[in-house]
Formats: sequence, structure tokens, C-alpha cells
Amino acid sequence: MKHYYINDNTTNPNGNNEVHSEDCRYLPSLINRTYLGYFSNGKDAVSAAKAKGYSKADGCIHCCPEAHKG
Ligand SMILES: [Zn+2]
Repeated sequence: MKHYYINDNTTNPNGNNEVHSEDCRYLPSLINRTYLGYFSNGKDAVSAAKAKGYSKADGCIHCCPEAHKG
């Protein structure tokens, strides 16, 4: 289980809000991220992000490859 966060910005090439785990080296800075919760995998974290209204949520390719689509 890890804590997951979503990037509030969509500055990546695909225009998605990327979801990261707490230990990802690409975790956005504190002011640019929103806490999602404590999950066992990236797919659950992305599902939670979409439930919060982040329709373009996508897993980070580095820390959530199982949830990366874009
Ligand atoms: Zn990441």
C-alpha cells in the first residue's frame, strides 16, 4: 500500500493529470499536487481520481505503469 497523489497541472505531452505514488521521483511539488488516498496499486488510485472529477487522470509511466494509458 502506498499514498498516491495527482498532478493538478496537465503539462505533460498527453494533457493528462498524472497520478504518482509517494516515492516517485517525478512526484509534483506540494503546491501542484492533490492527495488521493492510500491504495494498493495505481489502477485503484486512478479510479479514485476519476471519481473525484479528474476525467483525464492517468498513471505515471514510472511509478504506475499498470495504470498508464496515455
Ligand atoms: Zn510517478
